[in-house]
Amino acid sequence: MYEAVQKCTHCGANLTLDDLRKPNCTYCGTVYPHHAQAAQHAAVAGQVMNQMMAQQAQIQAHWQGAYGAGPLPPAPFGGAPGGQFGAAPGGPYADPQRIAAAHMQHVAGVASTIKLVVILVTVGVFLLVGVIVAVALLRI
Ligand SMILES: [Zn+2]
Repeated sequence: MYEAVQKCTHCGANLTLDDLRKPNCTYCGTVYPHHAQAAQHAAVAGQVMNQMMAQQAQIQAHWQGAYGAGPLPPAPFGGAPGGQFGAAPGGPYADPQRIAAAHMQHVAGVASTIKLVVILVTVGVFLLVGVIVAVALLRI
C-alpha cells in the first residue's frame, strides 16, 4: 500500500504518489493544482519556444533576402551554393573560371596602361634631351 503524501484540496481524499502522477484526483476528478501549474508553465514555455522559432525563421528569411540562399555548409571549390567564397549562386563570382578571366582582363588592362605610360615618358625624355642638345649646340 502506498503512503499518502497529500490530501486532495477538493474532496480531502488521501493521495499517493501514484495518484499525484495523474492530472486529476482519482476520487473527485479535480485537476491537481500542481498539475494545472505545470500545464500553465508548459503553455508559457511553448509560447516562448514559438517566439524563438519565429525569430529564427525571420533571421533566416533576412539572410535569404540578403544573400539569395540560406547559410549552407561550405561546398568544395567550384561548388554551387555556399561555395568557397560564400558567393551568391549564379553571381559573377560563383564561377572560378570567370574570376580568373576577369582577373586576366584586369591585368591586361593594367599592363596596357603601363605600356602607354612608358612610351609617353620615353618619347618625352627623348624630346627633352633633343631640345637640350639642340640648345647646347646652338649656343656653341
Ligand atoms: Zn479529490
